[in-house]
Amino acid sequence: MRQYHAAKAEHPGCLMFFRLGDFFELFFEDAIIASRDLGITLTRRKGSGDEHIPMCGVPAHSSDTYLARLLAKGHRVAICDQVEDAKKTRKLVRREVVRVVSPGTACDPSVLDSAENNYLAAVRRQDGNAGLAYVDVSTGEFRTVEMADAEVEGTLQSLRVKELLRPEAEDRLLDPSVDVADPLVPYTVTPVDGWCFDADYGERTLLETFRLHNLDGLGLDGKPLAVAAAGALVHYLRETQRSTLDHLEQPRFSAQSDRMVLDPLTVRHLEIFDPLYQETRTTLLDALDRTRTPMGARLMRNRLLRPSLDLAEVEHRLEAVERLCQSTIARTELQREMKNLYDIERLLGRITLGSCGPREVHNLGQSLHRIPALRELAATVEATRVRDVLERMDPVADLCSQIRETLCEDPSAIGTGGAISEGVDAELDALREIRRDSKSYISALEGRERRESGIDSLKVRSNNVFGFFIEVSKANLSKVPSHYQRKQTLVNAERYFTPELKAVEAKVLEADGGIAEREARIFEGLTASVVQRAARVRGSAAAIAELDVACGLAQVAVEGTYSRPRFNSDGEIRIEGGRHPVVERMLEQQGGERFIENDVHLDGSARLLALITGPNMGGKSTYLRQVALTAVMAQCGSFVAARSASLPLVDRIFTRIGASDHVALGRSTFMVEMTETAQILNTATDRSLVLLDEIGRGTSTYDGLAIAWAVAEHVLAKVRAKTLFATHYHELTALPDTHAGVINLHVSAKQAGERLVFLRRIQPGRADRSYGIEVARLAGLPPEVVARASEVLANHERDMRAASEGPEESTERDSDEESQGQSDRPALDENLRSLDLERLTPFEALWLLHEWKANLSD
Ligand code: ATP
Repeated sequence: MRQYHAAKAEHPGCLMFFRLGDFFELFFEDAIIASRDLGITLTRRKGSGDEHIPMCGVPAHSSDTYLARLLAKGHRVAICDQVEDAKKTRKLVRREVVRVVSPGTACDPSVLDSAENNYLAAVRRQDGNAGLAYVDVSTGEFRTVEMADAEVEGTLQSLRVKELLRPEAEDRLLDPSVDVADPLVPYTVTPVDGWCFDADYGERTLLETFRLHNLDGLGLDGKPLAVAAAGALVHYLRETQRSTLDHLEQPRFSAQSDRMVLDPLTVRHLEIFDPLYQETRTTLLDALDRTRTPMGARLMRNRLLRPSLDLAEVEHRLEAVERLCQSTIARTELQREMKNLYDIERLLGRITLGSCGPREVHNLGQSLHRIPALRELAATVEATRVRDVLERMDPVADLCSQIRETLCEDPSAIGTGGAISEGVDAELDALREIRRDSKSYISALEGRERRESGIDSLKVRSNNVFGFFIEVSKANLSKVPSHYQRKQTLVNAERYFTPELKAVEAKVLEADGGIAEREARIFEGLTASVVQRAARVRGSAAAIAELDVACGLAQVAVEGTYSRPRFNSDGEIRIEGGRHPVVERMLEQQGGERFIENDVHLDGSARLLALITGPNMGGKSTYLRQVALTAVMAQCGSFVAARSASLPLVDRIFTRIGASDHVALGRSTFMVEMTETAQILNTATDRSLVLLDEIGRGTSTYDGLAIAWAVAEHVLAKVRAKTLFATHYHELTALPDTHAGVINLHVSAKQAGERLVFLRRIQPGRADRSYGIEVARLAGLPPEVVARASEVLANHERDMRAASEGPEESTERDSDEESQGQSDRPALDENLRSLDLERLTPFEALWLLHEWKANLSD
């Protein structure tokens, strides 16, 4: 227990897996937590005096699955293992923490999603700015970026960071938006000593770890916050991984301005990675991802997370896709070849971290072996980016042949004698020969003993505990020769040994020990070779990922008849025959309605803001989103779902769509709506694209309309972002009469008798009406409610018309009514007094007026 307490004290905040024989045991509070989270039995063990120590355990050989479950619950686990051979010591076995596994450093494939990165991040904040560094230990990807402090939380969420390091002293007051104890914060927060976030310390750590003279080459010069964050990350990894970090890529700095910003809300609203409603189940990622390798799948995801703002880069990607669209044979062959590749990045990660066996190294060798064929196929595709990929796709031939020559075709675990090929090591071969010889020697010995003793059922066997023995059943004990020495008694048999058998046993044991040692040493040499070439292997994997994404996007483009987007510098969005790639796919799968294509034309002056009106269910939201998705796809380097598209580079997409459910965070729907709108108005630029799908619906009609009107004016006057504004406020459609830069569009619908036919066509001009009642009927509102609503609407419309008739007539009528209605005054007064104006909706007001007036005329 002393040993336990010492190790535990060094790793506060971690559960401790403490190795005892074949089990990892947990004690005290750890045991209570683990038994609850793993659903395993909590037992206890006697401590000193009357104390009983809570305890639970998991078998060491299957500890990975338990670890995975604890990581999924956000725990960090320190693994305290036996670091010397229990057989070779008579004293207490030495134990040390060999690794700390945490959600952000997990490398086990059973914990990770192969199509997604697993990021560990560190943030260093100062004066409203922040340096963010994030690393995927399982693949080696390592990046740094600096941004406004306010943007950090959104970025962490977009990256789906699993664990965040932050200075111990930095309490939540520094970052009021995040409550680390909040179950909605989707990552584990790990406090790290404050001094690890020092920029000078960070610089020294990075220079030392990556063997560099200065940080200029990484773009980190003059970026102290990013350096500090990256330094803290490396420090943490060195402390917790206790192995080489050679597979880590050098931490590259990427400027925020290199990429289109998509905040988590926009990513959610546009259903890029996750469907808003589970039943729809399809996302943009699903529609675009045809990659064949896990590396490619992760890159595809990252492309969508960070569409580029670098025109040359985007054009190179598009050119590759175009060429691959044209080279059907090369593309299909490449995809077929790539399907056979293993996850090179993650294999490399696990090999470097020393947590894998010969099978993983063998798989790496198999994958490297396929690279020459890939290169040959890629060489037939004429595109700058493909040529570039070709250059980076290194078959690492020396390593590949070393692996293939060293390991058996189907290698078993190290120490079994079945991992290393014949001919690699003379000593190993000789030892295996001895073992083979002793096997035949033993079967000869068994035959001889049977003959000589006359016991036909006599067997020579071995096991780990008792070594070699001759087994004779109880029935034959009388025939046992006198030179047999008793070793063990079983219920139905006795076990014996002879000096001859003892000698063979010694030989076999020695050979086994020798084999295990030789195999381990050879395997160590092999993994060292892999580590030495880690950078080359990583480079190859990254090149393959790029080729994989390009092939996948070409396949999607061909299958979906997408077209190559063109970019313009005058800020015009002109899309002809545009479609929503996901809705289109869903309609196809359902085999029903065909997707109706639509055009889009916005620019920086006369067509800056488009107001879109039309019936509920008409297709307004779909139209808005398809414009945004087209921009995202184009800047990822994908073809787009349109007949043609000419686009500007969009720096940021904002969405204000529907009601997001933040009730759990204690904010009302309307408050959320306004917060999102405020963020858009404060941050959007004239290079941004803004989607407003209804504004002001969460409050009374006139408040809402007033806000929507003012927002539109502000966009026109100040923000100048290209904006698509879907609304049911028909009053807004008057904006173009008085404001330059606004146009009216509407989605068309036709009333055919009782039925409403959605035409899904976007046309110039305003919609005549919302058809809300018809849609309510379609939705199954009881017929009497629908009928009453129609009646109320008709009355309302009639009154509105009456109200808009000439002023003279109405004045006349007013005075008329005044004289006639004297007798009704007290009732009317009473009605007026009892009205709660704060809560009255305009429509209710109109309805009351209507009633009172009806009474008066009576
Ligand atoms: P509301 O005003 O009620 O929010 P809306 O006008 O925004 O409605 P959408 O949600 O965009 O309507 O569209 C409703 C449904 O119509 C979509 O789920 C989709 O299935 C279908 N749809 C939309 N646009 C098209 C199109 N261009 N072609 C075919 N079907 C479409």
